[in-house]
Amino acid sequence: MKYIFVTGGVVSSLGKGLTAASLGTLLEARRLRVVLQKFDPYLNVDPGTMNPFQHGEVYVLNDGAETDLDLGHYERFTNCVLTRYNNLTSGQVYETVILKERRGDYLGKTVQVIPHVTDVIKDRIRQLSDESKYDVVITEIGGTTGDIEGLPFLEAIRQFILEVGPQHVLNMHVTLVPYIKAAHELKTKPTQQSVAKLREIGLQPQVLICRAEKPLDRDLRRKLSMFCSVAEKAVIEERDVEHTIYEVPLTLHAEGLDELVCDLLHLETPKPDLKDWRKFVERVVNPSKRVKIAVVGKYMDVRDAYKSIYESLTHAAASEDCGIDLKLIDAETLANGVDGQLKDVAGILVPGGFGVRGAEGKINAARYAREHRIPYLGLCLGMQLATIEFARNVCGIKDANSTEFDKITPQPVISLLEEQRGVRNKGASMRLGTWPTKIVPGTLAEKIYGDTEVTERHRHRYEFNMKYREQMNAKGFVISGTSPDGTLAELIELRNHPYFVGCQYHPEFQSKPNKPHPLFRGFIAAALAFQVRGQKPSTTGKEAPTSVSDEELVLQR
Ligand code: GLN
Repeated sequence: MKYIFVTGGVVSSLGKGLTAASLGTLLEARRLRVVLQKFDPYLNVDPGTMNPFQHGEVYVLNDGAETDLDLGHYERFTNCVLTRYNNLTSGQVYETVILKERRGDYLGKTVQVIPHVTDVIKDRIRQLSDESKYDVVITEIGGTTGDIEGLPFLEAIRQFILEVGPQHVLNMHVTLVPYIKAAHELKTKPTQQSVAKLREIGLQPQVLICRAEKPLDRDLRRKLSMFCSVAEKAVIEERDVEHTIYEVPLTLHAEGLDELVCDLLHLETPKPDLKDWRKFVERVVNPSKRVKIAVVGKYMDVRDAYKSIYESLTHAAASEDCGIDLKLIDAETLANGVDGQLKDVAGILVPGGFGVRGAEGKINAARYAREHRIPYLGLCLGMQLATIEFARNVCGIKDANSTEFDKITPQPVISLLEEQRGVRNKGASMRLGTWPTKIVPGTLAEKIYGDTEVTERHRHRYEFNMKYREQMNAKGFVISGTSPDGTLAELIELRNHPYFVGCQYHPEFQSKPNKPHPLFRGFIAAALAFQVRGQKPSTTGKEAPTSVSDEELVLQR
């Protein structure tokens, strides 16, 4: 078993997660079995309670763990399927230590950072070290070297290396080599100091990944090599990629990273097979057509807030040989009408979210998509709001609302899940993780998935109120997928619309390059068809989904 630790220096936001994930791609391409994990030094137990403005999206795993978005990169860039054991925060570490102390597990000892906190951290690395499953564990340490919170993690790594032997471990430090315009020069000093900081703790990196705006020349590589005590060929340049993040594994491969890592860890492998990856990148970079998609949400200035959604759109578009022009629209600007903002788009996506802000704008977007027969994809909250829209404007249920926005609404078309009543804590208390969905035969959903049973990841508190099912179905609102017992609505669609789909779950967490999610792929295909058809509402009905009779629907509770 080999271990790679990825630390970051100088500043945050260097794309350490992407670099770690890309190394995962390369090692998998060399037929190694790889698993990735992330250590986050902050004190939150998990990022589930953090504001996306600050922390980006919360990525949900199969087992319902709410984790850092870097785990999304790991799952998209490699074949590993992660669990809650792949993301450890200081909050969890201290929670574990304090619970043990209260139970009396420390047998009267004074409880300290070394060894008790560091033991918990090392245990977590060992938990993943199952030789029968993996060859390499890649552990990324969040934050920047020098942060107070990060120290116990770095100390734990120092001890861990001592225990397993340095020949089985590699430290990779991702650092910034800034370009100073006035001097026309790339500067190595911040990296030197960051490495010095690591050495103070007893860690010596063997590989430097240098994020730089300009190419690193030979002299600069020599300088970094000498001052940081890293072999010259282990000074790896990582410049901003030109088109897509999926180029990162290819540029790192061109710099010789995977070969170097295998040499340093004495791993014998075949040359990497990057054929499919290259083909995917080629399709992303040079599509034969383009399509304009609107995303109507709340955090439009924070690219990380809907990370997995944007990635899923990229995967789906690549599979249809098209590029995406994203139109990001702040839902609040649509509150009083869409005002022409949606007239030039071929698809409208409304993501998940919490709270009433922007809700009316998203409802207006859903209405516009329905009335103009523009492909619509509503994810979680986006499905709930499309439901409210249909209830209000097609079924005449004027006061239709979600109890999330109006606790005492007379028409709770969306209401709190039964299991949520009485739940007070905000952390990890939603309906989370993978649950099966049974798809109604003959629906568009069945056509899209090509299957009648799927499993998808969830993160919500509210649900469709089945009391309204019949009334809405009569007007063309179809529940096309439910929980296996038929009690929870999981998927909705409109009978007389080419592609109006909403899901109570988050398909964006299961899409990958070369393996786009069916709902996204169907959405892009429908958007392309819409574009070809022109903006005129189609009346042929040819592309309309098969109608579903009430008998075909699963029984209501
Ligand atoms: N706020 C809604 C709920 O809790 C939707 C959640 C989401 O979009 N993830 O049910």
